[in-house]
Amino acid sequence: QCVQVCPTAALTEVFHTDKVWEALNDPDKHVIVQTAPAIRVALGELFGMEPGTIVTGKLVTALKRMGFDGVFDTDFGADLTIMEEAAELIYRIENNKTLPILTNCCPAWVKFIEHQFPELLHVPSTCKSPHIMFGTIAKTYYAEKKGIDPDNIVVVSVMPCLAKKAEAKRPELTKDGHNNVDIVITTRELAAMIKEAGIKFDALPDSEYDKPLGETTGASVIFGTAGGVIEAAMRTAYEWMTGEKLENVEFEQLRGMDGIKKATVKIGEKELKIAVASGLGNARKILEEIREGKSEYHAIEIMACPGGCIAGPGQPYHHGNAEIVKKRQQAIYEEDRRKKVRKSHENKEILELYEKYLGKPFGEKAHELLHTHFEARERI
Ligand code: SF4
Repeated sequence: QCVQVCPTAALTEVFHTDKVWEALNDPDKHVIVQTAPAIRVALGELFGMEPGTIVTGKLVTALKRMGFDGVFDTDFGADLTIMEEAAELIYRIENNKTLPILTNCCPAWVKFIEHQFPELLHVPSTCKSPHIMFGTIAKTYYAEKKGIDPDNIVVVSVMPCLAKKAEAKRPELTKDGHNNVDIVITTRELAAMIKEAGIKFDALPDSEYDKPLGETTGASVIFGTAGGVIEAAMRTAYEWMTGEKLENVEFEQLRGMDGIKKATVKIGEKELKIAVASGLGNARKILEEIREGKSEYHAIEIMACPGGCIAGPGQPYHHGNAEIVKKRQQAIYEEDRRKKVRKSHENKEILELYEKYLGKPFGEKAHELLHTHFEARERI
């Protein structure tokens, strides 16, 4: 384990890159890696590229050259999250269960509610976050399909986030004492590894993510920015609730950099009230409204980092420069527009996964594998 020390010695950043190299050098291990949506629009900055340069293809090539046995996209886990979260939202609406539903992809925000609002733990969605869902499927469905003992699979997540390191170790998210995700590294740690490997990143050709579990949609890419999770959920909930095709998939009211965004989305006869809060100060305001019984919302997305994961603490430093974050956000929207399929429930590999393995979204097996629970923790 290597430690990077800040110049003033006030802070240290623990790197877990040695653990990844160790796994890659172990011939008995099948080491796979997944990359979060926000990585592709920021990694290039660490190789002298402009903020917002989309480097998805080069990122995949670099990981393949580093020796991973499989290179995957957390977007697949994000599409799976939407299948479960949209189904959970509809279940709650149709059965008069707890509303609003709160998204819970962000582990820093999950820790916040556990410590600060333990009386509201029945409110968040019970879905695991996308990279944990991916890790779970990798060690079950993928392991079976490939004929590999799950104990020999090492799942590495490249995340824009430091809180994801702690999340991967939560006992609630392990199975029979085994981790679903074994090692989490940040965008900065990945850049350090690419440099250590002597790879000239900017000169790399593009490659595609591996299959199975390789197909992804525009809905899953937008998880990388605040508002994206709930927008992706609306794309699916709209079509499932109305049976009609959603022509314009871009929900402008849910986009942009405001700390709290509000929208009313008309779904058939129903008007769903939606909010997006990024930054924990904004999250607190939204949660206080819920605690006081004054919340008018059906669904709320919360992200701890202002702007969402594009501005996460594991990303290249942006030093508070909002322009850099905005360029990353525009790149995320651009990547969504480039995708042929932009709705999670139209992802063919996801549909196959349900048909062959999981059963129905929000059904028994999906619950067992893809959902979790929360723990009330001491107020701090
Ligand atoms: Fe991590 Fe920030 Fe994204 Fe939350 S919003 S998952 S803390 S990077």
